[in-house]
Amino acid sequence: MDDCLFCKIIAGKIPSKKVYEDEKVYVFDDINPKAPTHVLIIPKRHIVSLKTATPEDAEIIGYSHLIAAKLARERGIEDGYRTVYNVGPRAGHSVFHLHLHLLGGRDLTWPPG
Ligand code: AMP
Ligand code: ZN
Repeated sequence: MDDCLFCKIIAGKIPSKKVYEDEKVYVFDDINPKAPTHVLIIPKRHIVSLKTATPEDAEIIGYSHLIAAKLARERGIEDGYRTVYNVGPRAGHSVFHLHLHLLGGRDLTWPPG
């Protein structure tokens, strides 16, 4: 996807602060962090959104959560973290390459705003 911001980040055409990478996912710091840990876990394969995800995307969606749990363990934030997919305009969804937010390192209120 030539015009996708996160595909460009994966390709190194736009700089990012890489946190983790393997053959399936790329993880980097959110540019506008909302918590001491705020990283984005994205599939290397372009997937638009949870709203349009298909059964063939199920494995990468589950895998992304396992990577979130691994990073939370490594960062010592297992006392409270959150994984979030924003979906749709009322949830502030702004980038249309699937991305799992991992937030932690502070008290997180419930319900989220
Ligand atoms: P969402 O509202 O779920 O679509 O989240 C998009 C996220 O991408 C926001 O938290 C932005 O701060 C983040 N973001 C946008 N551009 C960049 C970038 N170039 N590098 C890192 N994070 C970004
Ligand atoms: Zn993309």
